[in-house]
Amino acid sequence: MLDQSASRVPAILAVVMFVPLIAGCERQLTVQPDRNVPGVYVHRTEMMGTDATIRVRASGIGQARQFIADAVDALNRVEERMSTYRRDSDISRLNRYGAEQQVRVSQLTSRVLSRARHFSELTDGAFDVTYAPLRSLWRRAQKSGKVPEEDEVESTLELVGYEQLSLDRGKARLQRDGMEIDPGGLAKGFAIDRAVATLREQGCRDALVDVGGDIGTLGERSDESPWAIRVRDPREKTDSPIVLRLTGMAVATSGNYARFFRIGERTFSHIIDPRTGYPVNSVPSVTVIAPETETADALATAISVMGADKGMTLVESIPETECLIMSRTKTTPDQDIVSVDSSRNFSAYVEDTDDR
Ligand code: AMP
Ligand code: MG
Repeated sequence: MLDQSASRVPAILAVVMFVPLIAGCERQLTVQPDRNVPGVYVHRTEMMGTDATIRVRASGIGQARQFIADAVDALNRVEERMSTYRRDSDISRLNRYGAEQQVRVSQLTSRVLSRARHFSELTDGAFDVTYAPLRSLWRRAQKSGKVPEEDEVESTLELVGYEQLSLDRGKARLQRDGMEIDPGGLAKGFAIDRAVATLREQGCRDALVDVGGDIGTLGERSDESPWAIRVRDPREKTDSPIVLRLTGMAVATSGNYARFFRIGERTFSHIIDPRTGYPVNSVPSVTVIAPETETADALATAISVMGADKGMTLVESIPETECLIMSRTKTTPDQDIVSVDSSRNFSAYVEDTDDR
């Protein structure tokens, strides 16, 4: 008897000690000191189908790890609810059942959908998360190698329109069979803002969250300098980037040089004009700076659709928001002629080349 209970004690102890260890392992992230900036720690990962980097200023690696784990959780929570690649996400359920019945969605999704509506209204429908049936049409075209017929585009357009997505106290509904939602034009920005807000709530004062080149910042990189962000200079054939200096601001870039698909010899942007049904091609790159990443993300996508003139007018009308727009004005057989415009105060965020 004595022997048995004695052997049970270490076994129970082992379990008691081991469980938190296993639970802790899940949160063990690879966090490294940033070699260039003392006090800053970095974590690199993949999420939302792209690379992500989180940088935080912290008192030590333990605190950095805690901050970063919380930020990663915040990003993952948005991805779980919003991803169209997960069958059980709010958006996938809405796409499956939303035309038959109201679908209850989480607060996060509800907020994304209402922000999406705001950006649709602000951009006269250039930004529209209900554009997704067009994405499916063009994906099928990519597979078959044949550009869709005009009447196919026309009939698909009937399934597109933000007014046909209703949202009422956490329940969403699609007004037509065949409608679909893709929040890809603002979900990354939204997720980044959630991560930045979580970091702030945890007491982190300085951080940078980068998901696929869309970036939100909190505070500064060090006491002497703001966060430095490299954006490819659309004017240059070389890789020499523009360096932006941001303190608590966000930046997002939409550009088909990074993401496009091919049908035969032709390349097409992954951004589609929800009014015409065709992929956009006059604005190869747009960078937007705004207080919130969600705004920068949605506007960068919208301006790709609206074009340089309307896009610039819109940005100039929104306080604390700046942009750099590269547009294609003429295509010659050999090359595109491009022009680059920036909003009035964009240069305030650009580091002088002399400082580099
Ligand atoms: P970005 O990554 O910011 O350039 O946004 C591109 C993503 O936005 C695409 O991959 C789609 O998921 C989505 N998208 C494409 N066209 C539109 C549109 N007209 N309105 C809203 N979202 C769009
Ligand atoms: Mg976007």
